[in-house]
Amino acid sequence: MTAPFNFSAGPAMLPGAVLARAQEELRSWRGSGISVMEISHRDPAFMQMAAKAEQDLRELMAVPDNYQVLFMHGGGRGQFSAVPQNIAGQNDTVDYLNGGIWSDFAIREAQKYVARVNVVGGLIDTPQGRAIAPVTDWQLRDDAAYFHYCPNETVDGIALHTIPEQVQAPLVADMSSSILSEPLDVKRFGIIYAGAQKNIGPSGFAIAIVRDDLLGRAQTTASTVMDYTVQAKERSMYNTPNTWAWYLSGLVFEWLKEQGGVAAMGEVNQRKADLLYQTIDSSEFYRNPVHPDYRSKMNVPFLLADDSLDADFLRQAEQQGLLGLKGHRYVGGMRASIYNAMPLAGVEQLVEFMRDFEQKHA
Ligand code: PMP
Repeated sequence: MTAPFNFSAGPAMLPGAVLARAQEELRSWRGSGISVMEISHRDPAFMQMAAKAEQDLRELMAVPDNYQVLFMHGGGRGQFSAVPQNIAGQNDTVDYLNGGIWSDFAIREAQKYVARVNVVGGLIDTPQGRAIAPVTDWQLRDDAAYFHYCPNETVDGIALHTIPEQVQAPLVADMSSSILSEPLDVKRFGIIYAGAQKNIGPSGFAIAIVRDDLLGRAQTTASTVMDYTVQAKERSMYNTPNTWAWYLSGLVFEWLKEQGGVAAMGEVNQRKADLLYQTIDSSEFYRNPVHPDYRSKMNVPFLLADDSLDADFLRQAEQQGLLGLKGHRYVGGMRASIYNAMPLAGVEQLVEFMRDFEQKHA
């Protein structure tokens, strides 16, 4: 596979085969003479496609039967407000781990809907880099309605690679940037949610995987489109869903199955991340600020020793078809997002470019 390779954090690269198929089918979906975007969501062909997408996702993630798989509006942040409104009362306390920028946004949103958001812990600086406070230091509350965390912080490039065992409250995980990237034990969670625009499909769309016992608890003032119980009953079609996003996500799920599923993806993702971190660690020119045990396999931030070279680095990378490497505006530097759609060849070209740039400028 050849450049361009898109390292954007999201909306992110989609598999070429998926885009080619969408293009092929765009003007006439299943021989109908019209596009999938112009068909009623109640049309039997659409409903069948939608059900298959759900089934494929269930298979890919081995979602147990006592979980609803919901296709929601409003991306990742929509779920920041959906979660407290759905499974906590207005007088409740909820626990949040503050592991980075997205956790912080989730905390601020939850504060609108519940009496107390208890931040159990957060980032710490260690001699080996930034890390998340050890679970033994977390200030968990016995009465928390749920515990929320983000296993992969997209901006900070920080990940919690183990599912916290000590937590008694239902676990809620924002997997916007890590869903489907490796095998996962879904039954450990109360809710898993993800904005779609990284490992799934177009933006503005989200997946919420909700354990049945958490349904029926929504606050009376909760927005109906965001109400898990309503959406579960209506098969995510309480109102008109984002039909295009649902269709495209379905194509991504089919593609993932063809690739060998999440186990196969997990192996390639590990190799991609190892190659990139090894390149960074073996040089004095590049630096990753995160403790090795907490490094993200999806979003790899790195800094140049001399940040006056940043603009040159980005310009030359772009000239070689290595796109979207600018770090998030909050943290600067560079960031390579290497989700499922990024092939190993893309990371190989990136590290080759990095070594070459270092030789010329070190
Ligand atoms: N959570 C995480 C971990 C994210 O990376 C993002 C987006 N980058 C969001 C939530 C917010 O997603 P959205 O822009 O779809 O609201």
